[in-house]
Amino acid sequence: MWWVILIGLAGTAAAIVLAARRVLFLYKLAKSGQPAPERVASVKRDPKADVEGQVVEVFGQRKLLKWTVAGLAHFFVMWAFILLITVYLEAYGALLLGLDFHIPLIGRWPVVGFIQDFIAIMCLLGLATFTAIRIKNSPKRLDRQSRFKGSHTGGAWLILFMIFNVIWTLFFFRGVSSAAGHFPYKSGAFVSIGVGKLFNGLSAGTLDILEKIGLLMHIGVALVFLVIVVNSKHLHIFLAPVNVMFKRRPDGLGAAQPMRSDGKILDFEEADPDVDTFGRGKIEDFTWKGLLDMATCTECGRCQSQCPAWNTGKPLSPKMLILELRDHAFAKAPYILAANDEERAKLPASVIAEAERPLVGGADVNGVIDPDVLWSCTNCGACVEQCPVDIEHIDHILDMRRFQVMIESSFPSEAGVMLKNLENKGNPWGMSEMKRLEWIEELDFEVEVVDEKMPADTEYLFWVGCAGALEDRAKKTTKAVAELLHIAGVKFAVLGPAEACTGDPARRLGMEFVFQMLGQQNVETLNEAGVKKIVATCPHCFNTLANEYPQLGGTYEVVHHTQLLSHLVETGKLVPVGRIEENITYHDPCFLGRHNKVYSQPRDIMAKVPGVKTQEMHRCKERGFCCGAGGARMWMEERIGKRINTERVDEALETNPDTVSTACPFCLVMLGDAINEKKNSGEAKESLEVLDVSQLLLRSIKDTPVAAE
Ligand code: SF4
Ligand code: SF4
Repeated sequence: MWWVILIGLAGTAAAIVLAARRVLFLYKLAKSGQPAPERVASVKRDPKADVEGQVVEVFGQRKLLKWTVAGLAHFFVMWAFILLITVYLEAYGALLLGLDFHIPLIGRWPVVGFIQDFIAIMCLLGLATFTAIRIKNSPKRLDRQSRFKGSHTGGAWLILFMIFNVIWTLFFFRGVSSAAGHFPYKSGAFVSIGVGKLFNGLSAGTLDILEKIGLLMHIGVALVFLVIVVNSKHLHIFLAPVNVMFKRRPDGLGAAQPMRSDGKILDFEEADPDVDTFGRGKIEDFTWKGLLDMATCTECGRCQSQCPAWNTGKPLSPKMLILELRDHAFAKAPYILAANDEERAKLPASVIAEAERPLVGGADVNGVIDPDVLWSCTNCGACVEQCPVDIEHIDHILDMRRFQVMIESSFPSEAGVMLKNLENKGNPWGMSEMKRLEWIEELDFEVEVVDEKMPADTEYLFWVGCAGALEDRAKKTTKAVAELLHIAGVKFAVLGPAEACTGDPARRLGMEFVFQMLGQQNVETLNEAGVKKIVATCPHCFNTLANEYPQLGGTYEVVHHTQLLSHLVETGKLVPVGRIEENITYHDPCFLGRHNKVYSQPRDIMAKVPGVKTQEMHRCKERGFCCGAGGARMWMEERIGKRINTERVDEALETNPDTVSTACPFCLVMLGDAINEKKNSGEAKESLEVLDVSQLLLRSIKDTPVAAE
């Protein structure tokens, strides 16, 4: 047996050394990133959420199970990894303590043997499923529609092959062990015992040799696998639980994060671009969590398959963005980790060349991320929502934008007009603040305007938003909501000229300074007025007020108008009576749905309107498809690929709707524009319109067509 022990231990030592070197390298690279104290346990963690994250995301595979077949296959392969640790415990016991070793206490229970064999078989079935999916996708993998386009598929095949080797050597070793009489389970391990019967009749000497070879092969395969894993994308086997543990709570959606330098939130009154880190201008500017995100990516492409930019022919794929950052980080690592300039000077030319690549730049300067990639993002959150290992794409995109805008002054020029208007006039269109009152004059009832303090007895501050006050189509929603609140007897007031843009378009563009300026001004106004509860019609305003203003000292109870209206309908304060005999399809605004999980209330309202027949689009709710306006894209030209709003309206038309409904002024405009184009080209009927859910409700309550307003 000594030669078996010698080979086993030597192999184990070699693999551990090789794997440890790689792990040390990865640790040093992650540690070279900026600090992220907000992610660290001792500073701000919620142990209950941490445990929940592990149970639901990692062990429960919540996100993967949404992709039923592939998710189920992954579920079993992942659990095989966990449960088959017991088989390796037995293998090392057999190697070091004798072939008839069993795990103390539980090691002879038939149920343990059964679970081991069962999960190994399910793992094999999982491998077969993955193989079938990959073969099916193989001819299409160069096709943009394939989620594997751009993934390193060769490495994935190697890993499948290695897992297969783990399983067949497992059954071989256990089978021979059973035939030789060393196997700890006399029943339960149905496959291993069955395989053992195939060896019946062999001599004891032959079985002894086969058992030792089987043992070494089973251990050897795992060791080779370990070394491959730490050098491949399958690092996620070890990193996914860590990444999930340190993810943003509840997820990487909702609030954009404040700018941090060296772990501290930047104070723009003192910040110095020569000293502080403004966004991400080079790979070293990412935090360790950012680098961990990059190393954890499984290249599954689920994010890519949902991305509106990618699906309309733009160069942005959230998967490839993460992979490009990761490959750059790894290639530049020797430069980053070098102790001093002297060491750096000795590095190969390829490493120096990698180190000199700008993080963001076109092909002419060999940039890591092309500007068209960076500016194509609508911040829709589909990537973050889908990612099974909780990578936070939007945070990284936003941070790179911040450097481009605030340090390089490099961004699509059209957005510059919007920024100037925000700075000078407090709204993206540069209109006079007094125009914010005009919609009120078109109503036949009084609306209270806050005069420094919220009027007594008013329950809600109605946050109208720039579009809601100044854009003609969105103004109809504003008036409908005001009228519904009036009918329901809800006391509300508006800020009127004292309301400024929440700053969302500036922040999503990367101009944090303008966001801070507008945000602080609004928070001051709201706090001084004594505002406690806010209702907003714009999901972008809603998101900023509810999730981002707490960063600036403004904490309020914020609801979206669909939430409040749904409650008013539910409690009988609003009663839709008029029939609307129409086919209606509802478009989920990304900042209402994915970013804030408001999916049911707009649908609940429509369900209460007599006569309405609703039909979901193919992509809806968590998988809803963006209208193209988020991430400040509303203020940029869309020059590449198909227009996102056209793609969405094409999908809506498949449901043959009379009306497309939504709950966001920006979606209203984007979908309205695309519908008008379709009408002009004869692809949509003249009567097709896009309406806010509140307009439909008002129409039913008043029993008069809203379009006639
Ligand atoms: S946020 Fe939306 S547009 Fe941006 S990368 Fe993710 S899926 Fe694509
Ligand atoms: S970022 Fe997430 S969803 Fe996208 S490929 Fe990587 S692991 Fe998959």
